[in-house]
Amino acid sequence: MVVITCQADLTITEKSGYDITTIAAGANLFSEANKFVQSGKNLIVLIDTSMAKNFGRLTSLKRQMFKANNSVVFVLGTQQPKTFAITAKHEFVEQKLANVIGIIPGKSKLNEYVLFSGHYDHLGIGKAVNNDSIYNGANDDAAGTTAMIMLAKYFKAKNDNERTLVFVAFTAEEVGGFGAQYCSRQFNPDQVMAMFNIEMIGTESKWGKNSAYITGFEKTDMGKILQNNLEGTGFNFYPDPYTDQNLFYRSDNATLARLGVPAHTISTSKMDSEPNYHKVSDEIGTLDMENMAMIIKAIALSSKGIISGKETPSRVNVAGLK
Ligand SMILES: [Zn+2]
Repeated sequence: MVVITCQADLTITEKSGYDITTIAAGANLFSEANKFVQSGKNLIVLIDTSMAKNFGRLTSLKRQMFKANNSVVFVLGTQQPKTFAITAKHEFVEQKLANVIGIIPGKSKLNEYVLFSGHYDHLGIGKAVNNDSIYNGANDDAAGTTAMIMLAKYFKAKNDNERTLVFVAFTAEEVGGFGAQYCSRQFNPDQVMAMFNIEMIGTESKWGKNSAYITGFEKTDMGKILQNNLEGTGFNFYPDPYTDQNLFYRSDNATLARLGVPAHTISTSKMDSEPNYHKVSDEIGTLDMENMAMIIKAIALSSKGIISGKETPSRVNVAGLK
């Protein structure tokens, strides 16, 4: 059995009102299981034994259940019992985590927010490779956090933003985006005009220097607005070329995007071949600082109309989202 719950002590019998359902042979185990976990319902899920090999990996679904009220019990085996008793004990360790936020109030449009963000957490200390157990995360995402801080400095010095600018270093992206989820819920999404989430800009993109991609490019006209402001600079923003990887939904922009905010991630990471991605070798020496500076400059220049309130990107069509 695998029990996914936020309860420390759980006892279930046939009288507890749990619905019993199944995942049949040939189904997509993880997408089916994920649907049940996110359904908000108390469930017992009987899983065909042909999926025994991956059954243990269902424990990773606990991430999808942050503070949920329902519990889901996966049982390997298809025989439905008439009477049963399941007990599970979990030990919870509470960790205090914090986002770091700075705000430059708008001159005239105080309640119209523009967000710039990166995540400051990484994988921490893990399995040693060549006696190195520290996962630095220089590119993922100290690079994005650096961009966010540089932009904050730039706009503070410029001191002419009509909209309110919010600069956020998110925590806990790698374990499930919890920092961004919490922060995003503090806003009325209708008041957030745009979000620039910056992830892994320390290496050259697949198109070379002076370029980056924007996830979910086609979902709003924000990419086009940014590109128009860069005419003549030689810098190009492209649509995300790694659409099969679902990057739009995987980073810290996703929570606000799902609420309709034109919230995109800007990146240069070659997701099919980035050599140091999630490795101990993601070290500062691998970053191309000059190229990174060009990308930060491009974000600063291209966002000027959004910051002055003259340009407003279209909203994400929430009905069309997965
Ligand atoms: Zn990242």
